[in-house]
Amino acid sequence: MEERKMVLQAKNIYRTFQLPNTTLIYTMLRQVITTRDTHFKKLQKRNEIWQSLPLPPANSRTLPTFITKNCCEKQLISMCRSNIANDPIMYLPMHNFERSRIIRWRMGWLPGRPTTCKNCDTTLNNNTTRNHLTQCLKLHQILQVPIIVTSPIDYILNQLPTKQISNRIKQNYFIQKWIQLTKIFNKIETLCHTTEDEMNPDPEDISPLIHWLKPPTAN
Ligand SMILES: [Zn+2]
Repeated sequence: MEERKMVLQAKNIYRTFQLPNTTLIYTMLRQVITTRDTHFKKLQKRNEIWQSLPLPPANSRTLPTFITKNCCEKQLISMCRSNIANDPIMYLPMHNFERSRIIRWRMGWLPGRPTTCKNCDTTLNNNTTRNHLTQCLKLHQILQVPIIVTSPIDYILNQLPTKQISNRIKQNYFIQKWIQLTKIFNKIETLCHTTEDEMNPDPEDISPLIHWLKPPTAN
C-alpha cells in the first residue's frame, strides 16, 4: 500500500509540471516552489520515486518507464497492467455491476473482509483471501493461465483488447474468457457475501462487452 501511495504521489507531482501554462496550478507553481516549507515541496522531498527521477523530467515517458522498471517486479504492482495508461476496464462497454466489481477487485476491495470459505471444507477454516480463492476455485485451470501467474483474473483483464477486433478466433477467445470471468466473479461475490443465495444473473442479459467484441451483425 505504501508503494502504491508513493507511485500515486509521484504521478500527481509529475502531472503538475505537465499542465498547460494557462492552468491555475501552473501559474501558482513558481510561488509554491520559491516559498519555504510548502506542502508541495515536502511532498517532492519525501517521495523516493520523484527524488530518483532526473529533473526536470526528460520527457513524458520518464516517469512511466521508471515505475515499470523499478516497481513492476514487486508482487502488488505485478498484478497491475504492465503499461501505464488508462485501464480499459474503465471505458470498455459493460454493465454497471460488472464494472463496479472489477474496479473493486482492482482496488483490493473484493473479496472484502475474509470470511470462512464455504466452497471447501469449512472445518479447515480457510479464509476467503485472494490467494485461497485462486487455489480453491481453480482459477488457473479454468482460465487456462500459466501456474506462475500470481493473479489469473488480473492476467486476463490485462489482456482485454482496447479496440474492436475483426479476427473471429480472437473474438471468441475473449468472449469465452469474459463469460468465465463473469461466472468466477459471481462465485466470489456469493462466497464473500453473507447471503447463502448463489448469484444467478438472468442468462438472457448478455454483457455489452460481448456485443462489442462480436457485434450481432458480424457472422
Ligand atoms: Zn475454499
